[in-house]
Amino acid sequence: MAKLENKIVLITGSSRGLGNAIARKFSAEGARIAINYNRDRESAEKLRNELPGSEIFQADVSDHASVARMVKDIHSKMGTIDILVNNAGILSTFSWDEFDDDRVRKIFDINLMGPIYTVKECMDDLKKSHGIIINMASNAGVGTAARGTTFYSITKAAIAMLTKRLAFDLMDWHVRVNAIAPGWIESDMTLGGKSQEDAEKLRQSFRSKTELNMTGKPENIADAALFLASRESEYMDGQVLVVDGGRIDNLTHGL
Ligand code: NAP
Repeated sequence: MAKLENKIVLITGSSRGLGNAIARKFSAEGARIAINYNRDRESAEKLRNELPGSEIFQADVSDHASVARMVKDIHSKMGTIDILVNNAGILSTFSWDEFDDDRVRKIFDINLMGPIYTVKECMDDLKKSHGIIINMASNAGVGTAARGTTFYSITKAAIAMLTKRLAFDLMDWHVRVNAIAPGWIESDMTLGGKSQEDAEKLRQSFRSKTELNMTGKPENIADAALFLASRESEYMDGQVLVVDGGRIDNLTHGL
């Protein structure tokens, strides 16, 4: 028996990268995927054509009205949402010297308000289905040290607390809420626009920061997501699962 037979799963930002890998993995386990994209319609359509029973939905998660419209569309085309994967996010790297209000606001709006709006709009469904929420945090929010990622890290630390609070707020409906904190995973976010030479330097640099001497692949995160979406994790709630190859550049000083 497939692990997610007939489950309706909304995965934000599933046109590319980690969300795309999660969509493929969940679909292979019988789920029907609501593929959300913001700008990359072509990739979203390509994925829909490969995954039986899936549909695509455009929405900018940082715009509450856009998220509300998407959830309404999902209801009419697919039905009640059983599992929500809050995956959409951006990485914007800049130092305090490059501080810019709009940049800071944008990363907060997408990475933090996005999941908040999406949860708010899916909440009735998830209560009804005694569903599951999986949030995409980051090991940056746990305490790894990469220069220029301070504001990104703050959003991801907030996602870890959002996960714990939601698990608490939704306990009466038996909605399980957990997060994944990935390490450095190969995707457009980490390698987009880089030359082969620069990409290899980056891989080497991040490999050397792990105990396993490895960079991660989107499939590693999809495996963790499947675990959190299935019965095997039925006794887990409010947790942040770190999947990072054992990062050794950590700022959490003895915690
Ligand atoms: P990616 O390759 O850049 O893909 C980002 C995805 O998010 C795309 O599907 C994009 O859709 C979507 N997206 C961006 N802004 C959006 C918005 N405003 N509304 C709706 N969708 C939006 O990134 P990724 O590496 O797969 O990362 C996915 C998640 O994992 C993010 O939350 C990221 O912070 C987290 N993460 C990644 C890593 C890593 O090393 N890659 C590590 C830790 C955590 P369109 O292309 O259609 O715009």
